[in-house]
Order: sequence, then C-alpha cells, then structure tokens
Amino acid sequence: MAEYDYDIGIIGGGAAGLTVASGAAQLGAKTLLIEKEKALGGDCLHYGCVPSKTLIKTAHVYHLMKSGPRFGLPAITPPPVDFRQVPDRISSVIGVIQKHDSVERFCKLGAKVAFGNPAFSDEHAISLDGTSISAKNWVIATGSSSAVPPVEGLDKTPYLTNRDIFSLDKLPCSMIVLGAGPIAIEMAQAFCRLGTRVTVIQRSGQILSKEDQDMADIVQQGLEREGVIFQMNASLVRVADRGREREVVIKNKAGETQTLQAEAILVALGRAANVAGLGLEKIDIPFDRKGIKVNKYLRTSHKHIYAAGDVIGGYQFTHVAGYEGGVVLSNAIFHLPKKTNYSHVPWCTYTHPELASIGMNEKSARKAGIECSVFSEDFNGNDRALAEGESVGRIKLLLDKKENPLGVQILGPGAGDLLSEWVAIMNGGVGLSKIASSIHPYPTLGEINKKVVGDVFAPKIFSSTVKKGLKFFFSFKGRACTCGEDITCEEDMK
Ligand SMILES: Cc1cc2nc3c(=O)[nH]c(=O)nc-3n(C[C@H](O)[C@H](O)[C@H](O)COP(=O)(O)OP(=O)(O)OC[C@H]3O[C@@H](n4cnc5c(N)ncnc54)[C@H](O)[C@@H]3O)c2cc1C
Repeated sequence: MAEYDYDIGIIGGGAAGLTVASGAAQLGAKTLLIEKEKALGGDCLHYGCVPSKTLIKTAHVYHLMKSGPRFGLPAITPPPVDFRQVPDRISSVIGVIQKHDSVERFCKLGAKVAFGNPAFSDEHAISLDGTSISAKNWVIATGSSSAVPPVEGLDKTPYLTNRDIFSLDKLPCSMIVLGAGPIAIEMAQAFCRLGTRVTVIQRSGQILSKEDQDMADIVQQGLEREGVIFQMNASLVRVADRGREREVVIKNKAGETQTLQAEAILVALGRAANVAGLGLEKIDIPFDRKGIKVNKYLRTSHKHIYAAGDVIGGYQFTHVAGYEGGVVLSNAIFHLPKKTNYSHVPWCTYTHPELASIGMNEKSARKAGIECSVFSEDFNGNDRALAEGESVGRIKLLLDKKENPLGVQILGPGAGDLLSEWVAIMNGGVGLSKIASSIHPYPTLGEINKKVVGDVFAPKIFSSTVKKGLKFFFSFKGRACTCGEDITCEEDMK
C-alpha cells in the first residue's frame, strides 16, 4: 500500500477547512491544514460575516442615536462618524474570535498547520513552496472572492470589495454599490446609516433576487426611507476614475444613459471560486468560474479529492461550509457514505429588519412546479414588535398539499434568530399542531411563529361544522352579542 505523509490534507483554513481539520485531527487522522493567508479563519472571520455584522451593529447604534423622538426621547444630532474608530472595534471583535481559530488550538487538537501556496503536482501530492507533501485524501476548501465583471474601465478605476471595506480610514461621503445581493444591501444600509450617500445599481427589477419580490420590496422601501437611492433595471456601461471621484455610467430604466459620481465604488456582484494556482488543470479536476464540480458526496473527479464550502459555488454561507465539512468528514474519515441534502438550508440577510428564510419560498416553489398554500402574519399584529417600534415585516409559511411546511420566510426584527424554531420544526419533522398547542412566552417576537401556525388551524377549529356539532351535543345557544343591538362590530357585519 502506498505510504503518504498525511491521512488527510486540507487546503484552505476557513469554515469548511477548519471543520474538516478539527474533526479529522480529533478522530486520530494525521491531518495537515494549509492556509495561504497569515491567519486561519477565512473570509467569514476576516472579510465577511464577522466584520460585516460588527459594522452593521455600529451603524444601527448610530441610527438609534438619531431616532430618539420615535421612542419619546429628545431629538439629538450626534457628531459625524469618525470612521477610524470603527475598524478598531471590528479588529477587536475579530481578535477575540480569532483565538478559536488559532494555530495553537489546531495544534492541540493534533493537526499540523502550514502556511503557503500549495499546487497539486499529482493526484496525491502538492508542492508547498518547493516542498512536496503527500496525503491519502485531499480537501479543497479555498472559498471565494468578489467576482469582478468585465465592465469597461473597471480595471483602471480604484474600487472597494469586501476585502477593503471594513478597514477604510475614512468614511466615504458617497458610494455607488454595484449589485443588490445580500452583501451589497447590508453594506448599502450600514454605510447610509453612518452618513454616506449611497446609490445601489441593480440590473433587474428586484433586490435580493433569490427572495420573494414582496419581501425584497419591503426591504428596499425601508432602505429608501433611510436615504439609499436605487437605480433598478439599470445596466453598467462603463466606469472611470475622475481623480477625487469615480464615475459610473449606466443605462437606466428608461433606456437613457446616465452618469453617476461618487467617492467610492463597492463591487458586490457575486462571488468567484478561489481556484487559481492550485494546479487543478494538471490533475484534471473540472471547475468553472462558479466553482469546482463535485458529486453529492462532495467528491471531485478523483474519489479521494473532495471540495467543500464556497469553492463549490452552491449555497455560499458559513453554516453551509461547516455542514459540507461534516459531509466530507463522514465520507473521507468515517467511511460512512453521506450525501449532501440542501432541502432545509436556512439563511439570513442582516439588514434592519432582517430577512431570513428556510426551505422554499413562493418563487422557488413556482419554479419547481410545486403547488403550495401560503399563510402570513404581519409584525404590526405582534405586541412586542409594537413595543419595540419594530412593526415592519411579516412571516410567510408555505405548506404543501398535505399541509407539511415547505418553507418559511421571516422579514422582521431578529428574523435570523426567530427562524431557529423553524430550523428545529423542519429538521425534526415536528407536526404543526405541536407548535399551535405549545406555550410561547408573552410578549415575544417569537409568538409570530405560533400565530401563523394558528392561521392554518383556525378555519378548521372555528368552522360552522364544528360549531353545529357542539351546538347539537351540548345545546350551546350561540351568539351572546349581536351587532347593532349591543355594539357596532365590523366582524359581525360581515
Ligand atoms: C461581506 C460578507 C458577509 C458575509 N456574511 C455572511 C453571513 O452573515 N452569514 C454567512 O453564513 N455567510 C456570510 N458570508 C459568506 C461566508 O463568509 C462564506 O460562505 C464562508 O466564509 C465560506 O467558507 P469557506 O470555508 O468555503 O471559505 P473561506 O472562509 O473563504 O475560507 C477559504 C480559505 O482558503 C484560503 N485559501 C484560498 N486560496 C488558497 C490557496 N490557494 N491555498 C491555501 N489557502 C487558500 C483563504 O485564504 C481562506 O482562508 C459573507 C461573506 C461576505 C464576503
């Protein structure tokens, strides 16, 4: 049998790679983890989830400082944001989390961590800055980077991506955001709240295009109220550097050419897989700009070479990268064949209010040709939301013909956290009647989960058949109050 230096070699120290490395090492496999940057943690920790959510919180606090009168408090005008303080806070949050992803921790778990730029020299070996290292199994978990489309002039114009936006030394007065996906929209709101004049350019007529239009439109209207300008159905013509300002020429909704100027451009037009320099061509691993091709076991064209996380171009979230890392562990280390199953993937866009989703929405159900019924409740009927001054938003519950949940979308305060109940319901196959009869604390935002389930059962429980049956068996006498006689009652008039 061939002798390899390691049982498993992992390329990329982000969410996917770290999951495989910690699991494999703890299970006793001789594990090598290779990272090209100076520290472990990947995009999520350094240029993604952690800095963006920290920045969003800072922007939210500043927004609240200006919102006193909405809460019966005096109006104040806080001084402008000194952006030099903001990256300091971001770095300190990253620093705390970094300890969890430190080389020392992985070494203690039993994994060897190496830094450098590996390239496959054959199907079992890589060259790491001149040294050849072999492993029985390999995992490619190199993540993704901001995709930069071939727009005329963009290559000669300074622009920002998620790699620079969290470490600016000055708040831009104005910013044009190219794209309207989750990263673009989160950053548009955060920078607008901090004081930047933000314009978003979107090719289609909807932001957050994977979401249902009604939900995305509410998010857009909220951002518009806060001052974000949207150029919808607009295509990019060219970009130019005009010294202190950048220029973006678009063809707008009306088909006219329009020139926009701003101090900064943020490119957030999707993600491209990090595959350059890995030597994948040499060992015939198929990939395209979106990602490495894998089967349901996350195997590439070579049975012993797996790929996981953003680099495979599927659901590009940290929790999915972690899930895929677990699938690789099962297949490569436990040898228990495990396929990926994405039917209950939750995600959340951390705008204010947040937009969270699990399973199918109306758009994806329609696309899949699945009939569904939709139940919804608005947050303006939730007592806690009213007390919090957070009444914008709604929950949508999609049921299949057998009344099993197909999906849930929540647009509202803390939606990402509120979705957790649905993560448990859908993964645990919990019957909706259990939720309808469960006690939720009052007053909480989470009561909306129970209320929307109540909408499914109410027409059955309070149906005329049930009422007739009860009347027959127990001689109930019916209404005690009739409209007109005692009180004017809109419901009774119907
Ligand atoms: C601004 C922003 C906000 C986000 N917010 C969220 C969020 O709120 N929630 C969420 O779930 N997801 C969020 N994401 C997505 C999330 O960051 C990614 O889905 C996640 O990081 C993917 O993990 P990964 O392990 O596949 O890749 P990464 O975390 O990117 O890790 C890949 C690692 O591989 C290394 N690498 C790359 N090439 C090589 C090479 N040739 N050799 C060695 N090492 C290499 C990289 O340096 C990196 O450390 C956000 C992303 C961005 C950009």
